[in-house]
Amino acid sequence: MASGNTVLMRLVASAYSIAQKAGMIVRRVIAEGDLGIVEKTCATDLQTKADRLAQMSICSSLARKFPKLTIIGEEDLPSEEVDQELIEDSQWEEILKQPCPSQYSSIKEEDLVVWVDPLDGTKEYTEGLLDNVTVLIGIAYEGKAIAGVINQPYYNYENNEKQQLREHRNEAKAGPDAVLGRTIWGVLGLGAFGFQLKEVPAGKHIITTTRSHSNKLVTDCVTAMNPDAVLRVGGAGNKIIQLIEGKASAYVFASPGCKKWDTCAPEVILHAVGGKLTDIHGNVLQYHKDA
Ligand code: AMP
Ligand code: MG
Ligand code: MG
Repeated sequence: MASGNTVLMRLVASAYSIAQKAGMIVRRVIAEGDLGIVEKTCATDLQTKADRLAQMSICSSLARKFPKLTIIGEEDLPSEEVDQELIEDSQWEEILKQPCPSQYSSIKEEDLVVWVDPLDGTKEYTEGLLDNVTVLIGIAYEGKAIAGVINQPYYNYENNEKQQLREHRNEAKAGPDAVLGRTIWGVLGLGAFGFQLKEVPAGKHIITTTRSHSNKLVTDCVTAMNPDAVLRVGGAGNKIIQLIEGKASAYVFASPGCKKWDTCAPEVILHAVGGKLTDIHGNVLQYHKDA
């Protein structure tokens, strides 16, 4: 292991703070009440003001600090000067204290491709299923996903509502779980952090799959696996979190639709704890800039 002051670790430390800022933007847009929904290809393929602002924030903040990176964001946005208020300049110091895996210690900025999903689970976001939403920043080197950050802006959202109810009834006061939002990060060869790794109960086969992009092939494939239970939730990031936290045994989606920005960051977190993400034929995914 090399020191934490490598390009990769500095990038991950910045991406952590930048994803947190994007999560705040996602919450702010809901609080302001004007989602500015635009249909992209169809009624289940949406973009909101939060997708736009979060992407501007993430991509501009990364590009200012790391001008030679290749950054690919989901949303097609006009290139315009980004409001200074959207720029995040800080980095999460805890990450810089971690060693960089030696195989990545001499990576240069220009060797890295960053895949950005500013808001994963947009359909659910517009329907108020806020805990399905994540911000995804995935980092690839030589076509392989090697580091990633996932911010969950509404982690503890339900807990918070219950908390408010309890406080209203003058019951137990806010505990440490009342903080809204969390950030998970990982680097291959180092590990994944910011959550408690858990397995599903022994002998249970629970499949998690899409909620809003289903079709006959998707449901036939899930049924053919004869699971004990099926969870239908939004977001690729959210479903990978269900796997690492023991809520589901497998994420199955036998259909086109997921893009590199959906899988890059979640794949790293899953692989860092011993899981595996592939295409439907079992092939590893490629994250070159033109893949
Ligand atoms: P889901 O599991 O439906 O939340 O999908 C996971 C990610 O893949 C989300 O970012 C979706 O927007 C994207 N996705 C999956 N299927 C489709 C589709 N048919 N059209 C557009 N986006 C899709
Ligand atoms: Mg997405
Ligand atoms: Mg998105």
